[in-house]
Amino acid sequence: FEQMTTLGDVARYQARVRPDAVALEFEGRATTFGQFDRLTNRVANALAAAGLRKGQRIAYVGKNSDHYFELLVGAAKAGVVMTPIGWRLAPPEVAYIVQDSEAPIVFVGPEVMGHTAEVAALLERRPQVIAMEPGGGERLYETWRDAAPDTDPAVPVTPHDVAVQLYTSGTTGRPKGVMLTHENILGGRRTAAEAKMDWNTWGPDDISLVAMPVAHIGGTGWGLVGLMNGAKGVVAREFDPMKVLDFIEHDRVSKMFMVPAALQIVVRQPRARSVDFSRLKYILYGASPIPLDLLRECMEVFGCGFVQQYGMTETCGTIVYLPPEDHDPAGNPRMRAAGVPMPGVEIKVIDAEGRTLPLGQVGEVATRSVANMAGYWKQREATANTIDADGWLRTGDAGYLDEDGYLYIHDRVKDMIISGAENIYPAEVESAIYGHPAVSEVAVIGVPDEKWGEAVKAVVVPKPGMTIDPQEIIAFARTRIAGFKVPKSVEVVEAIPRNASGKILRRELREPYWAGRERRVN
Ligand code: ATP
Ligand code: MG
Repeated sequence: FEQMTTLGDVARYQARVRPDAVALEFEGRATTFGQFDRLTNRVANALAAAGLRKGQRIAYVGKNSDHYFELLVGAAKAGVVMTPIGWRLAPPEVAYIVQDSEAPIVFVGPEVMGHTAEVAALLERRPQVIAMEPGGGERLYETWRDAAPDTDPAVPVTPHDVAVQLYTSGTTGRPKGVMLTHENILGGRRTAAEAKMDWNTWGPDDISLVAMPVAHIGGTGWGLVGLMNGAKGVVAREFDPMKVLDFIEHDRVSKMFMVPAALQIVVRQPRARSVDFSRLKYILYGASPIPLDLLRECMEVFGCGFVQQYGMTETCGTIVYLPPEDHDPAGNPRMRAAGVPMPGVEIKVIDAEGRTLPLGQVGEVATRSVANMAGYWKQREATANTIDADGWLRTGDAGYLDEDGYLYIHDRVKDMIISGAENIYPAEVESAIYGHPAVSEVAVIGVPDEKWGEAVKAVVVPKPGMTIDPQEIIAFARTRIAGFKVPKSVEVVEAIPRNASGKILRRELREPYWAGRERRVN
C-alpha cells in the first residue's frame, strides 16, 4: 500500500506484482493487471492527445463496465478527473452534471446513446461524445483508446490532486459534485488495511462483485478497493438479482457490497434458497438503513459474514462499520448500530451550535479523517457549511454514540419527524412495520397535523397477491414500538420512489401533503 499514493500507482504497482492475474472480468472479457496498466496508459495518452489537461474533468454516462475503470484510472494517470453520471437520470439531470463539471468529453454507454441529442440541446457548449460500445454512430472508445501509445504518460500527479468527482445521490436536493483526491480514496484504506481485520483483508482467492452503479461511491469505491487489493473484480453491467446469484454460484464471488434495497430483491428470489453460498465470505451492506427483519433473513439465507457500512460520498464511503461478530440475530442490541469508526476515523455527535453532546444524546454526526472530501466543486459556501476549519465534516445525519463507542444512526436530521414534543425517526418506524408479513416495502414520513404539528404517516407496498388493511398495520406497529411513534395513518401504494442507490425519496413522498406549506427544517 505504501507504493500506492495515486490511482495511477495502483495500476503500476499491481502490474509489477501480479501482471498475469485477472484484474477485471466483464461479460466474458478478462483484463489482467499487466494489460490494465497498459490500457490505462493508452487512455491517459488519448486524453492528452484530445487536449485534456491536468485538473479538467471527463464524464461517463452509462451502466457498469470494465472500461469505466480503465477510463477512471487512465484519466487519473493524466491528472484528469473522472465524473461518472447515473445512467438512469433524466436528460435535464444529466445535462446539469455535464454542464456543472465542464467536461469537454463525455463517454456514453449504449443504454443512454438515444438521449445524447436531447442532453446536448440543453448544454451551452457541446462536448465531444465517445461511444463505449459499437452502434452509437459516434467515435468508438476502443478505437479511440488504441490509437494512443501504451507508454506511461509520466504526468506528475500528487496525492492531493482530485481524482474523482462523484455527485451525491441527490436524495435531499440537487446533487453536489464531491471532489475526492487520491489521498481521500487511498489514505483511509491504507490505514484500515494495517488493522488487518479479516473482512477487510484480501487474499489471492478473493473475488469481488461490483454490482452497484459506478455513479455512486458504492460502485466506484468498491471497484477501486478490489483493484487496490489486487483482487479479481467481476463487474456486473447492472444490478440483476438472478445474475447476482449466478455470479456467486459460478464466478466464485467471495465479497460483495450491496445496498439493502438490492439485498432484499436477491434474498426474495425463490432460487436464493437453493444456491450454494459456500464461497461467499462477506456481504458488506449500507448506504441506507436496513430493517432488522431483512438483515436476519439475509443472514439466514446467505449464511456468510455480514458487515454494515456507514458513510457518504463526502467521506469517500465507509467511515463506520459493524463487524461480523456483532451480527447476532439472537437479540444483541448492537445489531441496531451502524458500528464503530474505521481505524483513523474520528466521530463525534454535535448540537446545532457545533458543541459536542454527551454519550447517548442524539445530535448531528460529524467526522474527521483523511477520507473527508476536498470540497464541493464550485460551491465554496456549501463546502464551508459542511467542513469546519478544524476539518470536521457535518454528515447531516442524526445519531448518537454509546459508552462502547458504537454509533447509532437514526436518520437524516431533515427527515426527523417532530410530533408534539417527541422526535421520531422514520427508519425505526419503517423497521418495525417491515416485519409485518404482508408488507413488501415501507416508507415513513411526517405530514402536517393541526394538533401535533406533524403526524407520522406510513406508506406501504403489499407483497404480490396480498392485501393490506391500514388498521392492522397500525395495530401491528403498536406491538413493536412506543405509541407516539405509531403511524396515525397508513396509505397503500404500488411503489415507493427510490433513487439509484435504493434510497427512499422522502422529499418526493412528502410533497403532496405539504403543497403550499413550509415544513420546519431543524
Ligand atoms: P444528497 O446528499 O444529494 O441528498 P445522499 O446523501 O443520499 O444524497 P450519498 O452520499 O450517496 O448521497 O449517501 C449518504 C447518506 O446515506 C448518509 O448521509 C446517510 O444518510 C445514508 N447512509 C449511508 N450509510 C448508512 C447506513 N449504514 N445506515 C443508515 N443510513 C446510511
Ligand atoms: Mg448527502
